[in-house]
Amino acid sequence: MASKLEFARFPAPDGVNGWWESLPPPAPALTVSSEHRFDWVVIGGGMTGLSAARRLAELAPGASIALVEADRIGRTTAGRNSGFFVDLPHDISSESYSRSVDADKADVRLQRHGIDYVRSIVRQHGIDCDWRDDGKFHAAVNKKGQAALLHFAQGLDRIGERFEWLDEAAIEKVTGTGFYRGALFTPGCSTVQPAALMRGLAATLPANVKVFEMSAVKAIGDGREAKVLTFERGKIVAKRVVLCTNAYAATFGGHPNGLLPVYTFASLTRVMNADEVSKLGGTRSWALIPADPMGTTVRRLITDRICVRNHFAFRPNLEVSQADLAKAKSLHRRSFDRRFPMLENVELECTWGGPLCLSANNGALFGQRGDGVFEAVGCNGLGLSRGSAAGKLIAEYALGQSNDLVLQLLNQPHPRSLPARPIADVAVSAAIWVKEFTAGAEL
Ligand SMILES: Cc1cc2nc3c(=O)[nH]c(=O)nc-3n(C[C@H](O)[C@H](O)[C@H](O)COP(=O)(O)OP(=O)(O)OC[C@H]3O[C@@H](n4cnc5c(N)ncnc54)[C@H](O)[C@@H]3O)c2cc1C
Repeated sequence: MASKLEFARFPAPDGVNGWWESLPPPAPALTVSSEHRFDWVVIGGGMTGLSAARRLAELAPGASIALVEADRIGRTTAGRNSGFFVDLPHDISSESYSRSVDADKADVRLQRHGIDYVRSIVRQHGIDCDWRDDGKFHAAVNKKGQAALLHFAQGLDRIGERFEWLDEAAIEKVTGTGFYRGALFTPGCSTVQPAALMRGLAATLPANVKVFEMSAVKAIGDGREAKVLTFERGKIVAKRVVLCTNAYAATFGGHPNGLLPVYTFASLTRVMNADEVSKLGGTRSWALIPADPMGTTVRRLITDRICVRNHFAFRPNLEVSQADLAKAKSLHRRSFDRRFPMLENVELECTWGGPLCLSANNGALFGQRGDGVFEAVGCNGLGLSRGSAAGKLIAEYALGQSNDLVLQLLNQPHPRSLPARPIADVAVSAAIWVKEFTAGAEL
């Protein structure tokens, strides 16, 4: 490991996060503006970092812990997603989310561990984040989608997981739209308002965790028997560091080039009026993912808004342009109109993007990356359930504990390295383009 690690990129404002905008304004941020000392510093206030900081505090109640976040907690990717805590296999590079039986079983075990942990915190503290244990629908638009659903169902059968089939009329009864040809319902998925969850998790951390926001770490150096983290207006000296920066780790000195910052985008409608709600029909709240992972995710919210997500873009410099956002918004509009022709006057109020951290082989980084530095990086598109588990488990590992899930993560493959840029840029972008093109009607 290099003796000094430098962050090359910091989170940028990638559109307007509708989940965040629909919350009341937050309390002012506490920033790093002088010198502080802690036993532990967790870097990154996303799902992984919030779990890691909490678990460290639970297991080491006498330790002092800092959680540092470059932006506001809840405004970045962990508060920008579609809010699915997915328990079942969800490999978005596969055509039907499934992998091998062993890999699928291991994923389910890990993801359920993460979901159970967060659910118990939400319940214990009464976090107001619209947590729902209502399951999800996988819906198909055409024959190709129906074939992908069948393949997914066979994968679920092989690992002994429950599901239910819905025909065209049954899924229309739920969603109000006749757009889908059929669907498969899986009961174990939970959904949330992600920005509200992240804010609530930060607000209910144990008393030995101090949260700093709007405080980007610029470098981590070695001091005498401790790490020295440099910020624009101060520093933190800490015995140990836990890195939970997900995609941002891709530009952070010393990491392999197998971490792929791939953006995906979402839009949220304004609140529908009573007339629009009655034209739509269906049930008040549902969550649907596309049969083809490259298709469109849709949620109808209890607040009478609809959230749509689609489109991927490889952005190794970790920023998206106004043109990227405009393209995403126009794709969202098209997907929305095809599904909800009865809602043609319902505007998309906010559109935003956020970086996933993918890898060519579904690998991730977990463990110790040097003296006093630990990491849990690489959500592979499923950072809510996987990140909550990985954050909890990295804390356990860093405190010397071992268990089956820690071993599972230590033994998972590392992200496979890619050719150097610009060859990798062209290859990854072309692969995404082909997958999106073939997803066709599912978009
Ligand atoms: C539109 C969209 C929809 C999605 N839908 C889903 C979904 O339904 N379910 C699901 O599981 N996943 C979904 N995802 C992915 C999910 O949001 C991520 O997997 C998840 O956020 C990963 O959590 P994390 O904590 O590992 O990383 P992040 O959420 O990326 O958190 C990393 C944090 O590190 C901070 N950071 C970076 N550099 C520094 C620095 N130098 N100093 C201090 N802080 C720093 C960042 O600001 C960021 O807050 C979606 C993503 C998007 C964009």
